[in-house]
Amino acid sequence: MEKEQQFNSLPDDAELPAANLPKSKLIMGIDLGTTYSCVAVVQDDFPKVIPSRKGQRTTPSIVAVDEKGRLLVGEDAKKQLLINPTNTIYGAKRFIGRNFYSKEVEVLARHFNYPVIPIGEMSVGANIGGRIFSLPQVSALILNELRKNVCEYLKENVSQAVVSVPAYYTENQREAVREAGRIAGIDIVRIINEPTAAALAYGLNKEFDKKVLVYDLGGGTFDASLLEVYENVFKVLATGGDTFLGGVDFDERVMEFILSEYERTEGQILQCDSVITQRLKDAAERAKIDLSLKNVSKIDLPYITISKGKFKDYSLELERQQLEDLTDDLIDRTVEVCLEVLDASGAQPEDVESVLLVGGQTRMPLVVERVSKFFGMSPTKGVHPDEVVACGAALMAHSLGSDSSVRLIDVLPMSIGGRQPDGQFKKLFEANSTLPASSEVGVATTHNSQQAIEIFLYQGESTMAIENEFLGAFVVTGFSKAPKGKVRLNINLNLDQESILEVTAKSLSTGEPMHVQMVARAPVSIEEIATSEEIAVSSSTAETLPDDTGKRPASKRFSGLRSFIRRLST
Ligand code: AMP
Repeated sequence: MEKEQQFNSLPDDAELPAANLPKSKLIMGIDLGTTYSCVAVVQDDFPKVIPSRKGQRTTPSIVAVDEKGRLLVGEDAKKQLLINPTNTIYGAKRFIGRNFYSKEVEVLARHFNYPVIPIGEMSVGANIGGRIFSLPQVSALILNELRKNVCEYLKENVSQAVVSVPAYYTENQREAVREAGRIAGIDIVRIINEPTAAALAYGLNKEFDKKVLVYDLGGGTFDASLLEVYENVFKVLATGGDTFLGGVDFDERVMEFILSEYERTEGQILQCDSVITQRLKDAAERAKIDLSLKNVSKIDLPYITISKGKFKDYSLELERQQLEDLTDDLIDRTVEVCLEVLDASGAQPEDVESVLLVGGQTRMPLVVERVSKFFGMSPTKGVHPDEVVACGAALMAHSLGSDSSVRLIDVLPMSIGGRQPDGQFKKLFEANSTLPASSEVGVATTHNSQQAIEIFLYQGESTMAIENEFLGAFVVTGFSKAPKGKVRLNINLNLDQESILEVTAKSLSTGEPMHVQMVARAPVSIEEIATSEEIAVSSSTAETLPDDTGKRPASKRFSGLRSFIRRLST
């Protein structure tokens, strides 16, 4: 219990905003980015990016612990990334809200220098400098850092925010961001999708009616969204993306190139520990960024190895054309996603009237060239790729506090459905359904005297439920014992405009409302499924379920669920 509590709040040594500031009505707009985060507020009707206390317009999304065990956040944490990479957490946005035991986390963890560990049921955490942080806690520290900057800059206590997330985030990832807000003591009044925020910054109060494509290639993720913008209505027509495609993949290609060149020219493999790996990543990223402006970049790696007891330097050159050859297929993938998004909304490339480029990686000339070629037009100028999302979030925040006419109409990024008794996934909401949305499903008891029915919800596109992301389990109770099949219920699922799910149920025969309770939000680990003890089917009877207060220990709460999943997966 004590351990759980440790993750429910900021670490004791986190520096909070000054306590004596007057309470503010302002709502911040926060772009919680993979590599950098940005915060803006609307003043005199214009979004204004709030600089960090060090004068920077963005803050590195990095948390670290130094050799003395001190907590570092933002710029200070970034400074130690090169010298102490195993104690420095970056890229948290790629882990947050994921199941520790998922394939995605297994793959991702290999690319990071800090130890990624399981926390609680199956959340992801990191162990740096002997201190353990949950991923929502890491994001909370970054949110807190941004809030501190705003409070100090405005001399007001701002505690509410609109926070942006990738459109392609699952429900679990969104919930983890909300949790990060709670940990940081920030009231997240709304979660907004990044492309919608970008479109808002571009199209608010402009009198046009057009289809806008937002192409967002950031540090770790790629999102493409097609929106219709008219009279301050921002209607997402379709969205798609790849949470495993971003600037870091471009860096990795350059890193592989450096390593293969080293082997070719030096006749041996470069021995890499975590510090050298981090230095290579850094050099690769710098060369990549350099090549957005120049045709050739020199990569210098001083003291990279030891030969005959002496430090040895290594340097090489990389040409823009070589970088383009190394990364061309990554850009192909983004174009494929754009095609999928257009297909999903029945549009053609020529229907798109403006293309917005968002995310630092879109500064690469080949990205601009390929996007221009695909859509037959140059992307819109005048949108700052690093700041546009925070500005859009701030404009949204401002509209919430006024009687503005801004309307956001979003879509569900991935299908949501339930598991059928044979393990198949039954879609209840299709990907790209307009929100809010509702769905209805009929269920019946499958054994005599059954007193509860469990509904297991997943998100994804696989036909097998277990291959999708587990969202949660609901239990419906409140009906009398009867022979199997006699109790028939109508389950209603409603997704609000922020895709928060509400489930209600009623008896088909009497029309009476039933009691519905969520029993699990955390995903169930494959490992636990494999090792959990067989529990009788009667785990779905009322006695083994938590009471209304939900006070039973978490392990009990999940036990029925695990056995149920095990039975279906074997
Ligand atoms: P973001 O998540 O939007 O902050 O994007 C960060 C990514 O953009 C990182 O992978 C950076 O290496 C990349 N990036 C930033 N500036 C440039 C540039 N001028 N050319 C190419 N990539 C860049």
